[in-house]
This record gives sequence, C-alpha cells and structure tokens, in this order.
Amino acid sequence: MKLLEWASKEVFKKFGIPTQTGKLARTVEEAKDILKGMKYPVVIKAQVPVGGRGKAGGVKLAKDYDEAVKKAEEILNLTIKGIKVKKILITEAVDIAKEYYVSVTLDRRTSKAVFITSKEGGVDIEEIARTKPEAIVKKHITEPLKPYEARELAFQVFEDNKLALKAAGIYQKLSEVYFATDAQLAEINPLVVTPANDLVAVDAKIILDDNALFRHPDLLQYKDMDYVNPEEEEAKEAGLSFVKLDGDIGCMVNGAGLAMATMDVIKYWGGEPANFLDVGGSSNPEKVKKAMDIILRDPNVKVVFINIFGGITRCDDIAAGLIEAFKTMDVRVPVVVRLTGTNEEIGRKMLAESGLPLKTAETMSEGARMAVELARGQG
Ligand code: GDP
Ligand code: MN
Repeated sequence: MKLLEWASKEVFKKFGIPTQTGKLARTVEEAKDILKGMKYPVVIKAQVPVGGRGKAGGVKLAKDYDEAVKKAEEILNLTIKGIKVKKILITEAVDIAKEYYVSVTLDRRTSKAVFITSKEGGVDIEEIARTKPEAIVKKHITEPLKPYEARELAFQVFEDNKLALKAAGIYQKLSEVYFATDAQLAEINPLVVTPANDLVAVDAKIILDDNALFRHPDLLQYKDMDYVNPEEEEAKEAGLSFVKLDGDIGCMVNGAGLAMATMDVIKYWGGEPANFLDVGGSSNPEKVKKAMDIILRDPNVKVVFINIFGGITRCDDIAAGLIEAFKTMDVRVPVVVRLTGTNEEIGRKMLAESGLPLKTAETMSEGARMAVELARGQG
C-alpha cells in the first residue's frame, strides 16, 4: 500500500521528522477556504500515487492568494502519468538552500534493508545512480540506525558539522519509520536545508508491505479510496490476484509463479500481457467467470490466453467456468486455452463438446505464441 505524500508526512510527524503542515483540498472551493488563512508563499502539490509530479507540473509555488487559486485549479485539472489528480496538498513553502536525498528500502538481493543518502537530492535516485554513483552513500541494515551509525552516514553527506548532527537525527528516525511500519520504502526526497540551516522533509513517500498490514490497523486509515483501481479491488474480493498492465494479451493463470512464467513467455514471443491474473489454487467455476469478466472489461485486450497447470486446481472446474462465461458474456476476442494436469481429459472433453470457438494449445510456449499471433491479427 502506497501512502500519498500527505499521509506519509502524518507518519513522519509521529516519529518526529520535521515537515510542513498542510491541508488537503479536493475542489477549488475547498482550496480557496484553505488559502484564505495561509501565510505566503505557499506550495500546491498534486496528491497522486506516482513520483515526478514536479516535472509534470503537479508542484507549484504561489506568492499570493490569487496566484494560488489559479494554480490550485490548474493542478486539480491535471492528469499525471495517466492518473487524474483528485486532490491537492496546500502547505507553506520553505526556502530551499540545498536538497538532499534519504531513503530506506528493501534490497532483495541481500534480503536486508538498505539506507541510502546523497547530497544530490530532488531528482530521481535512479538518475543519480546513473550519472553520479559516487554521490550515493549506502549502508545495509537489519534494525533502526544506532546514533553513531547515523552520524557516520551523515558526516559523509553533510559538510557542516551542526547540520550533519541534525541530519543524523532524521536518518535515525526515518529508519525507525521503516522498521516500525513494516515499510518497503520510506523516502524523503528532497530533505531540504533552509537558509536558516534547518532541515525539512519537503516530500515524503512510504510504501507499506501489504502482507504486514494486519499488524498496523492504525495505518489502514490512510488507504486512499480516490486512487484504487476498481478492477483490482473487485478481483481481491473475489480471491483473485489481478494487476492491470499495458499490453493486449489477457492472461488467466493459476499460481503466481506460472502467471509470471506465462508473462515471460508471452514477452519471449514478442507480445505484451494486458494483466497479471492468478485465479489461485482451488479455483471454482465462479472465480473463472469473474476472471474472464474482469479481463474482458479492458478495451485493450485483443486475445485471452488461459494457461492452467492443474494440481489442486481441477481442469474440469476451469472448463465449467469458461463455458459459463461464454454463456453469460459477450466474449468478443479469441481465446487460447492450454489445460494440463488434474482432470485434463475431462476438462478438454467438456470444452470440445461445448462447441465453443476456442483455440487449444498443448504447451505453454505454443499457447503463448498463438496468443501473440492472434493479438497481431495473424492467428
Ligand atoms: P516530486 O516531483 O513528485 O518528487 O515532488 P516534490 O515534493 O519532491 O517537489 C518537487 C520539487 O519542487 C522539489 O524538489 C523542490 O525543488 C520543489 N519544491 C517542493 N516544495 C517546495 C517548497 O516548499 N519550497 C520550494 N522553494 N520548492 C519546493
Ligand atoms: Mn520528490
């Protein structure tokens, strides 16, 4: 679960990380009310679950009320990386002398957390890694930073001693946020030094581990219903794992590993998956029907590839679900099916006898290739 900037800042405040206080507005009217009581200049920021808002025009400074209203309206009308802005955060602007980067994230290669900081802040860390790798300071950790560790890191990044000591406090607190909330990422970019030599977290980003959310009922209040993908939510409720992607080949697979492999093989044959979809272990026909329904709602989908390796999942259940789906829905695209494993003979027979216009494949690779060709209109 991604916390938006405003929510991440709420969490930061609880841990004592200095940041601006702000207010949320969902309409220009709400923005006007907030702006009447503000000290200027203010900064107006799109609250969307993607980065790079600044470059996309989603972060704007305003020197007075009139300018602020105008910019609030502009930002509320923006779409950033395909996501329509639903609300803005209005805060007092801080004066910036210099921008730094700080984060704690999971390093899957070493199975440890890694603390990352740099004196090149404000831009993407990937960008810094590419152009100035020597400007990045890293340390693998398995618990929050100890004071001496935080100081050691801060002195590599901040030239001024007093500032380094202040930064060390923030480093420690950010690492506490990371571990205490079971985060996958806790990031401040930029951490700003003001002309008065204060440090302020001007941006904030926390990504929580969904599998640990049950330990943090207090953080569930930050789940943002403005930006949930309705299909993904619906799938979750039906016991399906569904992630929408940008391609045109709809996939219905059982098991996350097989779902990943299927996407790989589709890519191998030059195609692009439209989604990741795992119907799970004991998939009953209802789930299969629901999966078809969700996949077919995506207008980009040109073909559906059903790749089932029957174990606990029974191929006859999948076949029954498919037959139901065809009966009740307008299946407007070709469907390629590869069924193997438990009850495959029964499942295949059911499909053959149903007379449905399905293309069948013997292997995953063959099925993927057929799907890619059909998506290109060559099937
Ligand atoms: P992002 O583009 O999504 O990462 O959004 P940020 O919150 O990081 O803002 C982008 C940039 O806008 C920052 O790197 C700053 O340079 C600038 N910015 C954001 N807030 C302020 C502020 O309060 N004062 C000033 N002067 N600049 C700001
Ligand atoms: Mn930022």
